[in-house]
Amino acid sequence: MAALDVLAAEAASCTRCALAKGRTTVVFGEGHPSADLLIIGEGPGRDEDLQGRPFVGRSGRLLDRLIAEEIGLRRDQTYIANVVKCRPPNNRDPLPEEIAACNPYLSGQVAAIKPKVVLTLGNFSTRLLLGTKEGISTLRGRSYEWGSDGARLVPTFHPAAALRGGGEVLAKMRADFVRVRELL
Ligand code: URA
Repeated sequence: MAALDVLAAEAASCTRCALAKGRTTVVFGEGHPSADLLIIGEGPGRDEDLQGRPFVGRSGRLLDRLIAEEIGLRRDQTYIANVVKCRPPNNRDPLPEEIAACNPYLSGQVAAIKPKVVLTLGNFSTRLLLGTKEGISTLRGRSYEWGSDGARLVPTFHPAAALRGGGEVLAKMRADFVRVRELL
């Protein structure tokens, strides 16, 4: 079995943190197994928990549009994952111990996919991957050298922030997605 399938099978019955109790489905992630672009969100919401797929609700529809319009890719040409693979109750923020418990899955995904560019959506994935406590507004607007294989990391807002915050946030996201296209 391919490395990603082994990991997904392991995650499907995971009980490493308390989120296991409340989930309907583990949302492992999906996409091209050797995608050049890995997109990382925060954690599944209600729609994702029910369907077992990442970014299928309103945020996901916006994400799909930005991938198509600014990068020129379909989502199945990328790989989409989250920091935590199970839905936090009432969509609360994931806790540090939940993020830590789930991190081996994300690290395994990165190791298997070997992306050229990692696009982090929002504070949780950006802080985790850059190892910082800075906020997304400060961190976005540029790319970072990331990992030992010469990959680049581009931080941007979470699509939910654009849905709440309107045009200004969306314009900044579009600029960040263009940065991704240029790096690919
Ligand atoms: N928000 C996320 O961060 N991830 C999803 O999969 C859906 C919404």
